[in-house]
Amino acid sequence: MNVLIVYAHPEPRSLNASLRDVAVGELKAQGHSVELSDLYAMGWKAQVDRTDFPTLDPDTRLRVAAASSDAFAADALTDDVKAEQEKLLRADALILQFPLWWFTMPAILKGWIDRVYAYGFAYGVGEHSDHRWGDRYGEGTLGGKRAMLVVTTGGWEQHYSPRGINGPIDDLLFPINHGILHYPGYDVLPPFVIYRVDRLDEAGFEQAAEHLRERMRTLETTRPISFRRQNGGDYLIPSLELRAGLEAAGVSGFSLHLK
Ligand code: FAD
Repeated sequence: MNVLIVYAHPEPRSLNASLRDVAVGELKAQGHSVELSDLYAMGWKAQVDRTDFPTLDPDTRLRVAAASSDAFAADALTDDVKAEQEKLLRADALILQFPLWWFTMPAILKGWIDRVYAYGFAYGVGEHSDHRWGDRYGEGTLGGKRAMLVVTTGGWEQHYSPRGINGPIDDLLFPINHGILHYPGYDVLPPFVIYRVDRLDEAGFEQAAEHLRERMRTLETTRPISFRRQNGGDYLIPSLELRAGLEAAGVSGFSLHLK
């Protein structure tokens, strides 16, 4: 497989950097080819602004989705964005790796999504009509590919358990797994999360590294999270509400969208 790792940590000697090296080493040992987007090292521009749309008339009001759509259709996105889109198209699997900062990804990675996921590429794909709401949630440009998160947290595993004060980790990661990865088509694998890392010792690191190696060895075979597909018949069009009666008794919230 071709694997793309999009990695967001500012410090080359960090725990995240060591884990990234473990993942790259194991993927290569398995015969995969690996591309890395190290966003801080690349000096990735995180904010979306007018300079992203060089052909936009300077007097025209910036409407980001429309400008994105026009630039994508005209092949006029900036070279840094086009290069990342090409990496995504080349990759059979995408890994987003980051430390959990304020319960989500660091801003630089969010900015990578905001800029690389152009209209026509990651959203606004497929037929939009009374009976079809585009190719999304399991279908789209990145359909048929795999994706997973590699995340480190300061908080303990219990803090992220179903009754933990931070909220369940699957709920916190739902907007990324479902909204950012499943949306443009990916089959999303369960995340690899290491908790309570701030005082990790060498033994803890070795244990975490071995778990990560195992996840890299099974990247091709791990069963994806069973998110429902938008166009699989489970949702009403155009309200996109889950049809009544499909969920097991007592299921609510994000879990409704699991088959
Ligand atoms: P580092 O600081 O680089 O390392 C962590 C420990 O691993 C160190 O003690 C280091 O010595 C040790 N280590 C062991 N072996 C190795 C090795 N081989 N290589 C490198 N280091 C090793 N946490 C939450 O749970 N929820 C939040 O919402 C949250 N928000 C945050 C917001 C901000 C702005 C910041 C700065 C932190 C936040 N944290 C939060 C904590 C954060 O998630 C952790 O600090 C982060 O995951 C640690 O990863 P790191 O790569 O930066 O670790």
